[in-house]
Amino acid sequence: ARILQVSSKVNSVWYPASSFSSSVPTVKLFIDGKFVESKSDKWIDIHNPATNEVIGRVPESTKAEMDAAIASCKRAFPAWADTSVLSRQQVLLRYQQLIKENLKEIARLITMEQGKTLADAEGDVFRGLQVVEHACSVTSLMLGETMPSITKDMDLYSYRLPLGVCAGIAPFNFPAMIPLWMFPMAMVCGNTFLMKPSERVPGASMLLAKLIQDSGAPDGTLNIIHGKHEAVNFICDHPDIKAISFVGSNQAGEYIFERGSRHGKRVQANMGAKNHGVVMPDANKENTLNQLVGAAFGAAGQRCMALSTAILVGEARKWLPELVERAKKLQVNAGDQPGADLGPLITPQAKERVCNLIDSGPKEGASILLDGRNIKVKGYENGNFVGPTIISKVKPNMTCYKEEIFGPVLVVLETETLDEAIKIINNNPYGNGTAIFTTNGATARKYSHLVDVGQVGVNVPIPVPLPMFSFTGSRASFRGDTNFYGKQGILFYTQLKTITSQWKEEDASLSSPAVV
Ligand code: NAD
Repeated sequence: ARILQVSSKVNSVWYPASSFSSSVPTVKLFIDGKFVESKSDKWIDIHNPATNEVIGRVPESTKAEMDAAIASCKRAFPAWADTSVLSRQQVLLRYQQLIKENLKEIARLITMEQGKTLADAEGDVFRGLQVVEHACSVTSLMLGETMPSITKDMDLYSYRLPLGVCAGIAPFNFPAMIPLWMFPMAMVCGNTFLMKPSERVPGASMLLAKLIQDSGAPDGTLNIIHGKHEAVNFICDHPDIKAISFVGSNQAGEYIFERGSRHGKRVQANMGAKNHGVVMPDANKENTLNQLVGAAFGAAGQRCMALSTAILVGEARKWLPELVERAKKLQVNAGDQPGADLGPLITPQAKERVCNLIDSGPKEGASILLDGRNIKVKGYENGNFVGPTIISKVKPNMTCYKEEIFGPVLVVLETETLDEAIKIINNNPYGNGTAIFTTNGATARKYSHLVDVGQVGVNVPIPVPLPMFSFTGSRASFRGDTNFYGKQGILFYTQLKTITSQWKEEDASLSSPAVV
């Protein structure tokens, strides 16, 4: 109950003014600059994953509400696109400050709805904040190109211009960071934005909307609707939406990419992952084991950049018992409890799915070295907890290898050579992230060069690129052609207009020889 004490700012967007215990609070819609109660007759319960208590309800927005949100985005677009880029930059400069000031508050909401530890939740906000900070350099990022005097008196130049109304569909696992990859980038370029947060974790988006409004974003520049499939279909089909940013599973992402593209929209879709960490026998053992444990089990493995698969090359296989010992020491607890290293999974269904995938290991010939299926967390017996789990002797044809587990489970393969490891990874359909641990620069370079994965860490796990770069997952982990944030993000949210202009010298005013 402690973390449910949130500020009055949260009250206005999430909780009713009445006390929490008197009724189940409802998440508002954000339409045309107002936080409004939905008139929907379909509501989805939001649970605290550590207890499974219902802590709120989020509406499935009605068609009329979604139409009102789009109409608001559309109305706000011309004036916002015409607002000087310097003024839009000022909004973002104020926004980054307000996010910093409210970082802990947003993190508390994330822990309550999503379950991750407060430290992870603060990291979630912080990584999003970095994108907002980078978006403040829009004045350089949006520059066009020029080519003077392509022929007599003729110049050629291009402008980067906003697209119109853009939309975002977000997953549950990074309630702040991923929406912040989307609407601030789109808005600073002059677009207006329709956001659909994950129905499991809408709170952070609502508070972030309040803060961007407080930063001076005009009414209608950001609208928020809630819901599931109907809201997604509405976004994919609506003729006024020009671009869709999606992050989530392959099942939803492939569908949204195809449906949105069919309706003529730009779509970028970041999707699932199976990230491999290759451990060479010459690696710094201490660093490698610490990094592996953190990257495999942190945030209960519910990260698209979790290192969920280790490939131990040659003698590195001898480190397995020590890896198990370190994983055993991790504290599993509710995310707001001191000392918690990992919290619960998002839903009982997610827990069941993860446990079934663990079960499949021994059935198909693997061994469970550390088993987190029956963990009990004192005081949180109803939570969706799974403890750190390590499955060894895994082969590429096994279900636990082929599926994205999205839980605190590390599957371990062994190879004799680096080349074998690279072959396994390049045969895996996903291309989100990978890491190699070695003290040999040539080995690291060979690996980075040959591995067909969009984001590579060398002695660094979870190599999520900083926002001056872009999130560059590849193969089945990404559909589209321009990535999230960084220069790629600016390209995604803008279109070019190229102007060929001739001003004949003979027409210049007062340029007769008498003046010269
Ligand atoms: P999800 O696909 O279930 O949900 C994402 C969004 O899509 C939600 O807003 C949801 O309402 C909507 N949605 C869900 N199912 C849908 C369907 N069948 N049709 C249309 N819309 C649907 O994903 P999730 O469980 O919230 O998130 C976990 C997944 O996201 C994992 O696969 C993870 O790897 C991936 N992810 C990827 C990245 C990345 O950058 N590559 C980052 C974070 C998460």
